[in-house]
Amino acid sequence: MKHFPIYLNLEGQRITLAGGGETAIAKLRLLLKTEARITVFAENPADEIVRWAEAGRLTLVRRAMAQGDAICARLHYAASDDAAEDARTAAIARSAGALANIVDNLGDSQFITPAIVDRDPVTVAIGTEGAAPVLARAIKADLEDRLPRALGPLARIGKLFRPLAQRLPMGRRRRDFWSDYYFKAGPRAFDENGETGAEVALDDLLNAHLSDAPRDTHVTFVGAGPGDPELLTLKARKALHEADVVIHDRLVPLPVLELARREATLVDAGKTGFGPSMKQADINDLIVEHAVDGAQVVRLKSGDATVFGRLDDEVEACIDHGIGYSIIPGITAASAAVAAIGQSLTKRRRNSSVRLMTGHDVKGFAEHDWRALAAPGEVAAIYMGKRSARFLQGRLLMHGAQPDTPVTVVENASRPDQRILHSTLGDLEPDLSDAEMEGPALMLYGLAPRAAEDLTQSEDFAEEVS
Ligand code: SAH
Repeated sequence: MKHFPIYLNLEGQRITLAGGGETAIAKLRLLLKTEARITVFAENPADEIVRWAEAGRLTLVRRAMAQGDAICARLHYAASDDAAEDARTAAIARSAGALANIVDNLGDSQFITPAIVDRDPVTVAIGTEGAAPVLARAIKADLEDRLPRALGPLARIGKLFRPLAQRLPMGRRRRDFWSDYYFKAGPRAFDENGETGAEVALDDLLNAHLSDAPRDTHVTFVGAGPGDPELLTLKARKALHEADVVIHDRLVPLPVLELARREATLVDAGKTGFGPSMKQADINDLIVEHAVDGAQVVRLKSGDATVFGRLDDEVEACIDHGIGYSIIPGITAASAAVAAIGQSLTKRRRNSSVRLMTGHDVKGFAEHDWRALAAPGEVAAIYMGKRSARFLQGRLLMHGAQPDTPVTVVENASRPDQRILHSTLGDLEPDLSDAEMEGPALMLYGLAPRAAEDLTQSEDFAEEVS
């Protein structure tokens, strides 16, 4: 290790920087987060630097740095983008006893500034000794995702609370309390009610831990998206990572489930449309049982939990048992399907509304306002529509829909095995049966893939595009 990472106390210390352009601005943005006294030397400073000076955030000297200018400075940044000038100002600083950094010149610098993930007072510094800036950036991006935004304020509040927490015996119980605060109760309360929420949560949590009272029970309903794990929200990923028990639908694929912790219990509450399935009441019981047991429960539903997800039954079961709940939205299959064909769900002058419909419900084929849907330009995203295609086709044609109305079926949207069937209302059956789709499929009524639309306009044809 050539460079030793340390955290330097810069409160009230002097930093000099020579340069007035983009490079200087980038460094200053970082330095202004500290409590140092900053002096910038620049003959032609950029507007942003002038504004910082006017706001009293730094001292601006409008000339080149000269001998004697770095007296009492701790650190110096040579950031003029001119190698000779940078060498000159670095030498001035070094002769005054300051450590000098020449931006983008590792060899001649006495220290380097790491990539920083800032959740003040928690800061993570990443350095690769200049070997792999790309790697440092990737690690930084990863950590930015992983560390909740609320971590900074939570740590600040937590620090003030430390003396009170000493009422808990040292060791396991105190550790459990802090881990509850930082990774469960704290972020949740912060999301709901900001800093005040976190303070209250901390108080409640301490009381609960002191009296060893049962913990708050909680279920998080999480939208898992259409299948591509990269289409999960950051919140969904975090909830999965924190879950003790994940109760998931059959439609949630393995790559998404793999984001749960290895120790987490995975429960398949699979309900396929027509196959053997767990009864809704049994699923409700399962959720309640695990939550009452004290587990951190994630109920993982494909797409968005609020779209054809029987969410309300499960939420009501939680409410009936005094279990808290929250809902993390996900990307619904309709969004993934239109994205796959390069279209919009709504479009100016074509359709200003869109229906999310189901082909069948618990009672069988679902009835809809067919006449309204048969009008030209209407668009609908039809979920669970494969088996009811012939019924939909019949109803719509009977109510006057044009047989050449485009219908596109997207199977396994967003997954590696995605398939797109481009058809028309008139040909939907037998086209759909001929395509032998096994995976989940979403029917887009009134939409053709953009590429096909450009080629054919209203030509009467059906073609499979892969
Ligand atoms: N809550 C889910 C929908 C559940 S109903 C959501 O918001 O997406 C199940 C139906 O969703 C399936 O029958 C199918 O029509 C559709 N579906 C789910 N995932 C899909 C995918 N990856 N591709 C195409 N359709 C999908």
